[in-house]
Amino acid sequence: MPYGISYAGAESEYDPADVYILGIPYDRTSSFRSGAREAPFHIRRASYNFEEIHFEHGLDLPRLEIFDQGNCEDPFLPEDMIEEVKFYMERPIADKKFTVAMGGEHSITIPIIQCFKKKDVSLITIDAHLDSRDEYLGTKYSHACVMRRAAEHLGINNVFALGVRAISREELERDDVIPYATSFEIKEKGIEKAVKKALEHVRNEKIYLSLDIDGIDPAYAPGTGTPEPFGLDPMDVKKIINMVGERLIGFDVTEVCPPADPTGITSILAARLINEALAVRAKSLR
Ligand code: MN
Ligand code: MN
Repeated sequence: MPYGISYAGAESEYDPADVYILGIPYDRTSSFRSGAREAPFHIRRASYNFEEIHFEHGLDLPRLEIFDQGNCEDPFLPEDMIEEVKFYMERPIADKKFTVAMGGEHSITIPIIQCFKKKDVSLITIDAHLDSRDEYLGTKYSHACVMRRAAEHLGINNVFALGVRAISREELERDDVIPYATSFEIKEKGIEKAVKKALEHVRNEKIYLSLDIDGIDPAYAPGTGTPEPFGLDPMDVKKIINMVGERLIGFDVTEVCPPADPTGITSILAARLINEALAVRAKSLR
């Protein structure tokens, strides 16, 4: 660990590890307020809040071997961030480790998805936004372009967004709109139905789940760069992770912004949802 503390329970070396954790302190394309670069430190610190076990998953969960790589460098240009993240993520993905990334802003998901072969993964996001612009504020690697870049790599049949409630005209008025379920329909018909729709839509078996924390309602996750009312509740997100279940091969949490999170509650929720993904991973090793 070059910087600060490692994630709670991350005591393994690289080789025997089931799980590979990386902090990506990048927030240079953020459009409204920056500060997400501080999130890996705060989420790691928040990870010490919790019991080692989450009893609702059963007491016989195998113990995961977790390796925390620490943080990658924080380059200025988005192109350099892409290369930096690939440098750290290519190997654990090729080695079939379960990867957990802590942003940073949502653009960090672009290089992670590009590390996978096209047939090896589908991307499901939890996000208030569709993030499907071709370019934003002069870059194709903006956090507003995550889904467009992912769809270019995996195909539109391997991406799906849950909890969306803010979409621009330019994203809706095109032939290849990214498939999504709104937070409004989730509230009305239930999260199970939306997750089923997402899982039936994507073609590739394995799923990478990317949580933009603004997908959750700002009442629960106020500390984020672009808060958007009418969001999912944390229990919805817990259910999403569990419904993906054995298909889950990687998880990230992005857009946590500690300077906008004076009580630290957003980092605590981020850490707890990482733990949820880890519990689901442990279950699939049972
Ligand atoms: Mn968002
Ligand atoms: Mn996003």
